[in-house]
Amino acid sequence: MSVQPSLPTTEVELGDPLPVLGSDVTVPLVTGGEVPYAALDYAASSPVLASVWNDVASYVPYYGSVHRGAGYLSQLSTDLFEQSRETVREFLGCRADDEVVFTRSTTDSLNMMAAVLPAGTKVYVFETEHHAALLPWRDTELTLLRAPGTRHEAVEIVAEALAGHDPERPGLVCVTGASNVTGELWPVAEITEVAHAAGARVVLDAAQLVPHRPVDIGELGVDYVAFSGHKMYAPFGTGVLAGRADWLREAEPYLAGGGASRRVVRGGDGFCVEWQHGSARHEAGSPNVVGAYALASACRALRSQGFASLVAREEALLRRTLAGLAAIPQVKVLSLLGDCAPRVGVVSFVVEGWNSSHLASALSAEHGIGVRDGMFCAHPLVRALLGNAPDQPDECGAPEPLAPGERPVNAVRASFGAGTPVEHVDRLVAAVARLARDGARWTYRTEAGRCVPVR
Ligand code: PLP
Repeated sequence: MSVQPSLPTTEVELGDPLPVLGSDVTVPLVTGGEVPYAALDYAASSPVLASVWNDVASYVPYYGSVHRGAGYLSQLSTDLFEQSRETVREFLGCRADDEVVFTRSTTDSLNMMAAVLPAGTKVYVFETEHHAALLPWRDTELTLLRAPGTRHEAVEIVAEALAGHDPERPGLVCVTGASNVTGELWPVAEITEVAHAAGARVVLDAAQLVPHRPVDIGELGVDYVAFSGHKMYAPFGTGVLAGRADWLREAEPYLAGGGASRRVVRGGDGFCVEWQHGSARHEAGSPNVVGAYALASACRALRSQGFASLVAREEALLRRTLAGLAAIPQVKVLSLLGDCAPRVGVVSFVVEGWNSSHLASALSAEHGIGVRDGMFCAHPLVRALLGNAPDQPDECGAPEPLAPGERPVNAVRASFGAGTPVEHVDRLVAAVARLARDGARWTYRTEAGRCVPVR
C-alpha cells in the first residue's frame, strides 16, 4: 500500500483537528492490547466538539423551563433558547421572514415538512435519497426521480420531471446536499433554479452538508433546510427545519399541545383552539433548550473556525483516504455521480471477496477503528451502487468469504470531519490493505444478524 508522496503527511501541514471529546479514549483489541479509538463514523453521529461541551456544561447549572416560567432561570433559559434560534438563523443566512423551527432531528424536520404541505402538493424525490427524505411523503402525490449518473444529469432529471408541473399547484423537490453513502455533493443551487422556474419549492436535506460546508439559504436559493445537531458535533437531541414561513404558518400544528396553543376553550363536544403563529406553532411541549443551545454553539464554533480552513483540511484527508484505497487492488469505492464529483468526508467501499459486515467487524476488533457497515438507510441507492436486485436478500452478518464473483449485499462506510487526525485515516487505509492481503487474524461468527469476534 502506498500513499502518494505529494499528499500532506503531518498535522502541521494539514492544520490541527478541532478538539473533540473522546480523542483520548482507548479500546481493547481482540488480538491483545489497546489502541486509541479511531472514530470514523461521523456521518452517523459525530463526536462532541469540546467547545460545545464546555458551553453546555457552563449553562446547565442555570437550566430552567422555556416559555413557561416566571423565575430568573426560566427567563434566562428562554432568552438562551431564542438566542440560539437567532444564531441558527444567521448561520444559515436566512431571509428576514424565514422561520427557524427546532425539531428532534433531520428525520423529524422532513416529517414536519411533509405535514405542513398545502393540500394538493406534488412532491419530487430522487429514489437515491436517505430514507428520512424518501419516506415521509406517503400521504402526498409523489414522483420518484431515477438515479442520475452525473451532477449534470441530476439537474436534467429534475427539469424533465418538472416540465409537466402545473405552476398553479404547489410543488416540492426534496434533495440532499451531500450523500450519506458516497459523500458526493449534489448540485443544489442548479436544481433549485430549475424547480423555481417551474413554480416548485425545494427542501434541502442538509444532514450531511451542514457539518462540512457552509449552507447559506440565500445563496443556494432553497426554500427550506433540514439538519440534525448530532451530525454537527452537538448530540443533544435537536434538529432544525428552517425556511419560508407561509406553509408553516398556514398548516395545522405538527404536534398538538402546550406551547403551540394560544387559547383553548370548551366548545361543543370538544375544544376550540387558537394556535400560535411562528415557530411556536410547531414546537409543542417543553423545548429542548440544552439541545438548541448545543446546536447553536456548534454553529458558532464552525463559523469561528471558518469553513475555508475546515474544507481545505477535510479535502486533504479525503484525497489521502481515496489515494490510499485506490492503491489497494481489491477495493472499490462507491460513486453515483462519477469520480470527478466533489465529496465531503464520507467514503463507502467494498473489498473483493469480503462480506462488508465481516470487514467492519475486523476493522473494529483488530484495529480499533469504528466505521459503519450496511445499507446506511438508503437501501435503493446502495442496491443500485452494488448492482444488486431489489429482491436479493440483504442479510449480511456471515463471516465467510464471498464466493468468487459473488457480490456483497452491503458496504463499509468511513466518514470523518473537523475532529479527525491524519493518523485515523492512515490507520484505516493500512488496516484495509492488510485485511485485503492477509485476511482476518481472528475468528468471527454471526450473532443477531451481525458479524462479531468469537471470544
Ligand atoms: N439525511 C441524511 C442524508 C442522513 O445521512 C441522515 C442520517 O444519517 C438523515 C437524513 C437522518 O438524520 P437523523 O437520523 O438525524 O434524523
